[in-house]
Amino acid sequence: MTDTAVQQLRDIREQWGDLLTAIARPPAPEWPPRELRHSLDGDDTTEWPPRHGRGYIDPGDPADRPRIGRLPLVLRQHPAPANLDALDAALSIEADLFDLADRIAAAHQSTTVGRDDPDRWHYAGLRHLDRRAPIATAGSRALGLHWAACWIEDRLDQTEPTDLHGVVRGVLRDHAERVTAQAHTTLARALGRDGRTTVLADLCPWCGGELTARTTSGDPMAATITCGSGPMCTAPAPYDDRARRTWHGRDLVQLYGALSAARSAA
Ligand SMILES: [Zn+2]
Repeated sequence: MTDTAVQQLRDIREQWGDLLTAIARPPAPEWPPRELRHSLDGDDTTEWPPRHGRGYIDPGDPADRPRIGRLPLVLRQHPAPANLDALDAALSIEADLFDLADRIAAAHQSTTVGRDDPDRWHYAGLRHLDRRAPIATAGSRALGLHWAACWIEDRLDQTEPTDLHGVVRGVLRDHAERVTAQAHTTLARALGRDGRTTVLADLCPWCGGELTARTTSGDPMAATITCGSGPMCTAPAPYDDRARRTWHGRDLVQLYGALSAARSAA
């Protein structure tokens, strides 16, 4: 159970940059997801697989602005505006995990030992006690969600008490696991990585069939696109278990190229 919570916290901080970027982006849903599009556009300077865990990224970072020069594939159905969803999700995840860190620190962090230890969680608003806090009134919250998630991970991973931190057990551990699972779900939902299925506006370039995209948690390369025509479709892609042409992983590059060509020809 705790392994799950630790992994979920890791997922949350690895995808945090994506969520912050999503807040600053226009609300139009699109496929492929931004990270995948970098790769499909043949941008050799883009690392693949995308490197996550980049910490607290300012949503205004020019490097993370949507790319221009190639139209995204617009989905047929438009869910609620992605930017507001992303903002709500980010605010709720931050509030919940900061609160969780406060609770764990209150229960299991020494008030007397290791006052200068970088591993200490500092409460918000304690400037009179800690004048060296980077942003005095925000305490450790000033270091951002990424650091808070790391700190909670360490607490949940810890099996032996140290001078600074006791072991998190019992009711508080259950609470930590619940909060983490909820934050994980909120993030996946906000990024459309909760197994959502969407019908693409573009038709299959080989047979004109309907293309359905399915994204799964966390990994943009785990997106799968299926042509609804079944074995009639002549696309050079493997069948899934229901004999439908299916693109996955690197095969998506070929599909994306064919879709772009069909669009320019239109
Ligand atoms: Zn097809």
